[in-house]
Parts: sequence; C-alpha cells; structure tokens
Amino acid sequence: MRVEDEIPKVYSPEAIEPRWARGWVERQLYRPSDDPTRPTFCLVLPPPNITGSLHMGHMLEHTEIDILMRWHRMKGENVLWLPGSDHASIATQMIVERELGREAFPDFPPGPEAESTWRREGQRLRRAMGPEKFVERCWRWKEASGGTIRQQMERLGASCDWTRDRFTMDAAYARAVIEVFVRLYEEGLIYRGKYIVNWCPRCGTAVSDLEVVHEERWGKLWYIRYPLEDGTGHITVATTRPESMLGDTAVAVNPNDDRYREAVGRKLVLPLLRRVIPVVADDFVDPQFGTGAVKVTPSHDANDFEIALRHHLPRVEVIDEEARMTAEAGPYQGLDRYEARDAIVQDLREQGLLEKIEDYALSVGTCQRCKTVIEPRLSAQWFMKMPPLAEPAIRVVEEGRIRIVPENYRKIYLDWMNHIHDWCISRQLWWGHRIPAWYCDACGVVVVARETPSACPKCQGQRLRGETDVLDTWFSAALWPFTTLGWPEETDDLKRFYPNDLMIMGFDILFFWGARMIMMGLKFMNDVPFRELYIHALVRDAEKQKMSKTKGNVIDPLDVTERFGTDAVRFALAISAAPGTDIAFSDEKVESYRAFANKIWNAGRFILMNLRKLPETHWASLAGALVPIPGVGFEPVSGLPHLQLADRWIFSRLAAVTSEINEALASYRFHEAAFTIYHFFWHEFCDWYLEWVKPEITAPPKDEKLPPVWINLTRTFEATLHLLHPFVPFITEELWSRLPRAGKEASISLAPFSLVGGRVADPISEKQFQRVQELIVTARNAKAELGLQAQKPGAQVASDDHHLLELFRAHQETIRRLAALQVLHFTHGRLQAGVSGVRALPHFDVRVFHAAEIDRGAERARLLKEKEKLEKARAQAEKQLENQEFIRHAPQHVVRNAEKRRTELAAQLQRVLDSLERLG
Ligand SMILES: [Zn+2]
Ligand SMILES: [Zn+2]
Repeated sequence: MRVEDEIPKVYSPEAIEPRWARGWVERQLYRPSDDPTRPTFCLVLPPPNITGSLHMGHMLEHTEIDILMRWHRMKGENVLWLPGSDHASIATQMIVERELGREAFPDFPPGPEAESTWRREGQRLRRAMGPEKFVERCWRWKEASGGTIRQQMERLGASCDWTRDRFTMDAAYARAVIEVFVRLYEEGLIYRGKYIVNWCPRCGTAVSDLEVVHEERWGKLWYIRYPLEDGTGHITVATTRPESMLGDTAVAVNPNDDRYREAVGRKLVLPLLRRVIPVVADDFVDPQFGTGAVKVTPSHDANDFEIALRHHLPRVEVIDEEARMTAEAGPYQGLDRYEARDAIVQDLREQGLLEKIEDYALSVGTCQRCKTVIEPRLSAQWFMKMPPLAEPAIRVVEEGRIRIVPENYRKIYLDWMNHIHDWCISRQLWWGHRIPAWYCDACGVVVVARETPSACPKCQGQRLRGETDVLDTWFSAALWPFTTLGWPEETDDLKRFYPNDLMIMGFDILFFWGARMIMMGLKFMNDVPFRELYIHALVRDAEKQKMSKTKGNVIDPLDVTERFGTDAVRFALAISAAPGTDIAFSDEKVESYRAFANKIWNAGRFILMNLRKLPETHWASLAGALVPIPGVGFEPVSGLPHLQLADRWIFSRLAAVTSEINEALASYRFHEAAFTIYHFFWHEFCDWYLEWVKPEITAPPKDEKLPPVWINLTRTFEATLHLLHPFVPFITEELWSRLPRAGKEASISLAPFSLVGGRVADPISEKQFQRVQELIVTARNAKAELGLQAQKPGAQVASDDHHLLELFRAHQETIRRLAALQVLHFTHGRLQAGVSGVRALPHFDVRVFHAAEIDRGAERARLLKEKEKLEKARAQAEKQLENQEFIRHAPQHVVRNAEKRRTELAAQLQRVLDSLERLG
C-alpha cells in the first residue's frame, strides 16, 4: 500500500502525538495476548493518588517504565502493564473537607487565612453530615476529578492495558482487603490494643511511624523541682514538654545512679496538681540526661508507657485528641497544649519550682500530611505484628529472590526490616476501607468477620456497634501486585502474571509500600510479588536543587511537553537517567532533544520523499523485503561494489548497537541506551550512511528491478526506528506507519525489536569503513586548515599497504564526493612529511594540493599542536601498559591492542618530529 499524503515539512509533535495516543488506547493495543507460548512480562503501575496530577517524578517513573514495557513487548514478550489509582484515604478526605469549607465561604479571598477557615469549617461540616453522606461525597469527587492522572498518562503515551484499570476501593478490591484483614486477625497477626500512637491533632487520627516527619529544632529544656512529700527537699527533673507533667504518675531514676539511691521508693508531690507520686528505679533511665531523674507520663510517651507497665503505675490522660487539656489537667482544662505550656511555666516560676531553662536541640515529629506537631497519645488502635511477617521478607532479599537496584538500597531495606516495629493500621478517618470489626457492648466481645454479623456470637445480643476506623491507605496498597490480578479468586491473570517481573518506585515509598508488598505477597501468595525492584532517582532543577513551590522552580511536565513534544521530554529524561543519580532537568536540555526529534523527522522525510518517487511495483518488492528472515532478522543484500562496504558496515554497527542497548536496558542504564541510539542515529546513520547512499536514492530509477540500496536503506531505517521507539514512541510510530508494509503488525510497538541480529557482525568491514572515514575526515580538515572549504582541490593518498590503497581506489568516487575533491591520486609508499598540505596518519598519508604559498608559521603551529597531542596520548598509553593491574586483569586482546597503539603513536610522533625538523 502506498501512502499518498504529503509528509509535512516541519516536525510538529502537537499534530502527531495526541492522534497516536488516542489511537493506542482506542485500539486496546496494549492488552496482552492469550498466547500461552510466549514468555510474559508484568509490571503493575505504582498507583498514583486520585487526588494527584502528574508531576516530574511521575513523568520520569512512567517514562522509565514505558521504555522497558515497549522494549519487552518488541522482544516478543507478552507484556502486561497494569494501571490503577489509589484512594489515598487521608489526602482525599482533606481535599473533600476543604471543598466543603470553600462551598460554605466561597467569597473568602484565597490565602493562608482562607485555607485554615475552609479546613476548620470543612471538618465541622463533615462531622455534621456523618460518615455515610461524607463518603458519598468523596465518591462523587472521585468520579468528577479522580481521573486526571489517567488522562495525562494516556496523552503521554503510557502503554498500559487500560482495560485492566484498577482502583484500591473498587468492590472486588474491597473484598480482598477484608479477606486479608480477617485472615491476619484469625492468625493473631492483627490485634487491637491501647498503646501510645503518633496522633495528629489537626487530622484527628493516628498515623504510622513512617508518616511522622522528624525535624531538628531548637527547643528548651525546663528543670522543674518536684518536692518530697515529707518536706525534706526535692528532686529536679528536666523536660522538653512541661505541659505533659500534669499526666505524670511517677519520677524514675536509674537503679545504678548513686545520687538517687536514697530517693527510690519515696514519695513526691506533683507540682501544680499536688498529686502524690512515687520515685521508681528503672534501667531505661539514662543518668546522663538532664538531672538523671525523669518524669514518667504513661499516657503521652511511648517509653513512659512501658515503664508504667513494668511498675504498675496508673495512666492519666491530660491532652485530648485536639491537643487541648482534659479535665484531668485541673485548672488548665480547655487550654491548647502550647497555651497550657506557657501558663504552667509561669505558675512554676511564681511558686519557685522552676530551677532553670536551657536551650536544647530536639527532634520534633510532625505530620507528613499537614505539618502539625505530632502528639504521642494513648489510644485504642489496631496493629499489625510485623517481625513474623518481616522475617521471610528479609530472607528473599538476602537470597537474591528479589534483586534491589541500585545495590545500596538493599542494605537500607535490610536494616529497616531488621528493626521493624508493629504497624498501627487504623485511622480515625472516614474515607477508606472500614475495618471489618464489631463490638458487643453487652458482653464486651469484639467480632472480626467477612460479613456483618447478625448477632453477638457470645451473648446473642442484637446490638452490635460497627468499627468506624478505616485502614491506613498503605494496607490496601500492600496487596496491589496480586489483588489487581484477581486475588483471592484464582484467575488466569494471577497464574500468568504473578510474581510480577519488575517494580519501579522512588525511594520515598520503599518502606511505606515496597517492603509491605513483599511481606504481603509472601504471606498470601507464598511467593515474592516481583523479581526486581528498581529505585529511580529524583528529578531536580538545572542546579540540581529540589523542585519546590516555594522556590518557584517546579517544572510542570504537561507544560514542557506541550512546548517541546512528549518525545523530546522523554528522551531528555532517559538520557539523564543514570541509576542512583538525581537528574538535573531544564528547558535547554529538552530543547536539544527536540532538535534530535527534528533530525529524526528530517531524515525520515528525506527517505520517504525519495521512496515515493519509486514506481508502484518497487513498493511491493520493498514491502516483501521488509519481512524479516525468521530467527535472523534483516541482512544486507549486495548491490553496487562501492555500496556493499557501507551496507555491511551499517548492518554490523546496527547489530552492535542493538546488543549494547539490550544490555544497558537490562541493567536500567537508561542513559547509556539513550546515548547509544542518539549517537548511532545522528553520527552514523545520518552523517555517514545516508550521505553515502544519497546519489543512488535520489537518482531517478532506470531499470525494472528494485535497486538493492533501497532494500538496505529501508531495512536499516526500519531497524533504527525500532531501536528508537521505546524512547520516542510517537515520532517513530508516525514515520514507521508511512513505510511500505506487507501484512505487518498494527503498530511499530508490536513489531520485533532485534530486526538486525548478530549474524551480520562484520569487524573487517567496520575496520575498512573506518579507514575510509579517516581519509575523508583528514582531507576535509586539511582543506579547512588551508582555507579551501569552498573549493574542490585535488589530493593524493599514499600508503605502504596496497590492500588499503585498493580499498580507497574502489571507493574513490564516494571519497571524492564526500570530501569534495577534484581528483584523487594513489601512491605506494609514504609521503614526505613537512610538505605543505600533507597530513600523516598511522596507516596512510594524505596530501591536499593547493596553489597558495605555505604559511610556515601556521604549519609549524599546527605541527606543534599535533606533537603535543600525540605525546599526551603516548604517555597515557605507556602509563596504562605500566599498570600491572591492567596487564594482569585485562583480556589479552585488549592488552595487545594497547601495545599496538603505543607503537603506532610512537611512529606517528616520529614523523611529526621529522616534519618539524624539515620545516626548519
Ligand atoms: Zn496532620
Ligand atoms: Zn455480646
């Protein structure tokens, strides 16, 4: 079939990209086939939050994933990239609350004050409407705006199977979450208990250790006197949180601390509240901290909670869920925690109980979501027992059943896993997976079940109170690799695609998500969730600064793709994506890869325009020639003798480049793969091959037979488009779709990647072509140095090697054309160096003839520069050969080559020295 429509002169991504993006989705191109014989490759997308829109981090992650997915697909594998989104419990709830608040005060001028008003009002309105209505409202919000990322991903060409799109709260997913919860509860791996948790007074919920961000801040250490009950003195304690003293139920000292040996067992009077509390001895107390005596506040500190258990101390809660003082706080009831702090310090000072105040650097835990200072608080929550789940998850990484790349993250993972604590999984939120538990208030039984129980199993009471807490978002996310494939049903997808082959994520969620997926996968599937885990880098600005709204250096991926095209942004990211190295991203970088896309377009257009001049019958034969030989791929066909060398060379280079790219992508070296194809396309295919064959493909066809050059050119061009495709899918799809086709796949993305195989590797042709390149480049340079760029002088080439001379003679027409020379003479032997216009190379000399008188000064300067260059190179070669490590460990042929190079450099240097001498 012949494509008749004109190929636009100017490359415009906006005209191409949206069309293909839509087409790929509509044609459901990326659904895996049912063919059981093909090897599978599966990755499930780290589900973006429904609250989100695409940022540069996503763009990098999705580009890397898409490159690998397209690459595997083109290798003939049955690829599944399963997409989806996360309900993002706390983030969504905050956004919907804010919306409620904004609806109540629509005219409030935007700003921090509006934000806090909307939040406060939103929270109030949420409580007023109740959980059912609020959750309904969240669903409506999700339907209306939760699909932003999906639309953006579609537009950016992510080759997901959208027919398998999943959501962490869809009905089937919710059933799986309940199943997991119930099974873990029945095994005793989930329990409920009253412990100290990280409490966010702003969000009104417990959060997990991982959701607490620790900040170094300057605070104070207050030294407070606690009088002995018998009036014989006092003990001084130091604290960073004086307001919590109202909840003290003891003072503790280290049993080996001689200063306090007498005091243990005596009674103190808690200042301000005048409660009598004991002095206890506990190993946990650090004698070096403060005075060596510490206050014990079991309801507001995790360590004190443990001390209280050991010493059977009572617990007194003085700070409530909104961080206000409770009735237990006596006169301070109702005050905010910081107001209470000021009042307490003031009162202590007035009563002479404040000994001193010191500045103190402390680590303050803040809420990851809203930055409010976390209040440790005694609270009844649900927990998951982690050590037994972590143990097998440690083993699979140690044994290499999961490979973590880059390697340094493996150790970080293992360290964290070896020190894991139980996970607080309940949240006092409304949007999320409701914990499947019910309480019987009559007899106190807690029922955990898959279905709502009709009566209490113990007392048969009918009045069961359902749990209102929901699960931490990461609980459901941890099930992602198998639940998306249909678990707990034993689906075909689950059989075929579990374990997933690969997971790609940023380091920030390695513990939140990566580690927990491994634990849950092993627990419920009895196998690892994925075989490799690649941790990608961060995208930073041009100065490698973190992108942030406050710095104003955030780059919006959609904006930058609109300006330069998706392909250019993808390529800029890929070529910068070295494992373990953050990416410096800038407009300039994208701009230069937009130029690369232009180059691809122009080369493609040149080929296609000339292709269109061929008669109809030639198109049919070309289409036939583009069916690869099974198991081999494409090979060059012989044509004119002077073309054969170029053909054999470009096919050999293609084979080498293909295997280099394969190796690079197999080890996540995206930057190397991108650099390799960039260099090959621009500096080999365009600069040399296309230039070489130009006369043949621009000449009007004269005979009935299709010229072989056309077969070789379209074969190499098609193969090159394939190598480029994973990086720049749109432009390659567009150009590929215009090539002659013979019953081929519907898209370049489904056609084989390795169209050129190892059989065409041809080191001899590569070497010969390299000599011809050297001759042409040397002649061009000599002309430029002599100021003859615009002219066509004659030239002479001389060598002792008559095979080499024969090679040059056979290609003299092309050499003359590409170097713009009038004639080329061949001489056996070497040329006298030092003569104007002579350039000496290791294997041959070139002389460009010219009429002008030689500028001796300029010639000397050139020779001196040459001498310096050669000396440097020789010194380097010698240094390498003196390196015993190198001699012992490098392969023999590498050492031999280095020795050969040293000899060549010495000979070349000698000839330059001779020339200098002759020049006088
Ligand atoms: Zn918060
Ligand atoms: Zn009961």
